[in-house]
Amino acid sequence: MKIRGAVLERIGAPAPYAESTPLVVGELDLGEPGPGELLVRIEAAGLCHSDLSVVDGNRVRPVPMLLGHEAAGRIEALGPGDSDLRIGQRVVMTFLPRCGDCEGCATDGRTPCVPGSVANNAGELLGGGRRLSRDGEVIQHHLGVSGFATHAVVDRRSVVPVDDDVPPEIAAVLGCAVLTGGGALLNSAEPGPGDRIMVVGLGGVGMAAVLVAASLHADHGGGEVIAVDTLPEKLALASDLGATQVYTPAELAEQGIVADVVVEAAGNVRAFETAVAATAAGGTTVTVGLPSPEARASISPLALVAGGRSVVGSYLGSAVPARDIPEYVRMWRSGKLPIERLVSSRLRLEDINHAMDELAAGHGLRQVIVFD
Ligand SMILES: [Zn+2]
Ligand SMILES: [Zn+2]
Repeated sequence: MKIRGAVLERIGAPAPYAESTPLVVGELDLGEPGPGELLVRIEAAGLCHSDLSVVDGNRVRPVPMLLGHEAAGRIEALGPGDSDLRIGQRVVMTFLPRCGDCEGCATDGRTPCVPGSVANNAGELLGGGRRLSRDGEVIQHHLGVSGFATHAVVDRRSVVPVDDDVPPEIAAVLGCAVLTGGGALLNSAEPGPGDRIMVVGLGGVGMAAVLVAASLHADHGGGEVIAVDTLPEKLALASDLGATQVYTPAELAEQGIVADVVVEAAGNVRAFETAVAATAAGGTTVTVGLPSPEARASISPLALVAGGRSVVGSYLGSAVPARDIPEYVRMWRSGKLPIERLVSSRLRLEDINHAMDELAAGHGLRQVIVFD
């Protein structure tokens, strides 16, 4: 079938992207879903910093690639064979498929699925191969999702169904921002009652961590949620979303503020160093950001040893999406997790290059492309 999608043609185009237009929106061919796959009509797709990292070359992926790894939509067709899903059902797409029977999947989310990672790096679906092309030219899938398009064919193991009461924009941001930011706390650090929680880097992922931290503390009768970012507009928003204290990195260092659990969600070395330096004795730094593979940090091994501190890496919040997404939906339904507040603007697919500029400038939280 013919679809419309945003294809990244080349890596490392100069900013502003509204002028260099590295993403080209146009018509593509989408193959039929194979066994164990489904055709999804995309309703909403969020822009995440990891999309920008592919555009600017920090994360090298094969091109041309149809980008987008945070999306939700309705099932329009199922591949041959039995399925536990039905046509019309809304699904959250997740960017790390889980095959369910490799050594990675056996770790309960702590390490990525092995064939899932191989497929992602190759620009293929988990079942192998690609369903996207343009005038006979093969187009790569982005992390098994390729959500910046009117439709996608995805593997069953890349989606989690949700009920119809979960709006498309919320379903979309569940797939990356909430799974990653929430999982940093719920899966990787598990803060106890009274633990001071800090989040360094307030993009969509960091702000989701602030929301989840505030919700955990509400369950435990209160506690500190400390939000850190270089941009004053982000700090103001974090206060709105439940942060009890906000600081720029300079203020944080100057005042010697520390926390028991510190989530680094900025994806750069300075933020990581800030997070480790602000981890209290006995505390844990959880890093979920994705700096360039060449990045190296300077931290004090002695401070780790002498203070009994831990540093933990957490890809996709060490999530098991099929287990975790229903939990976030439950928290959202109870009113404790206002995920809708992560959506800062809605846009059309055609505006995607400008939206990448906004993302690079750190404006807003989640910009979400909506399809009608
Ligand atoms: Zn993401
Ligand atoms: Zn696996």
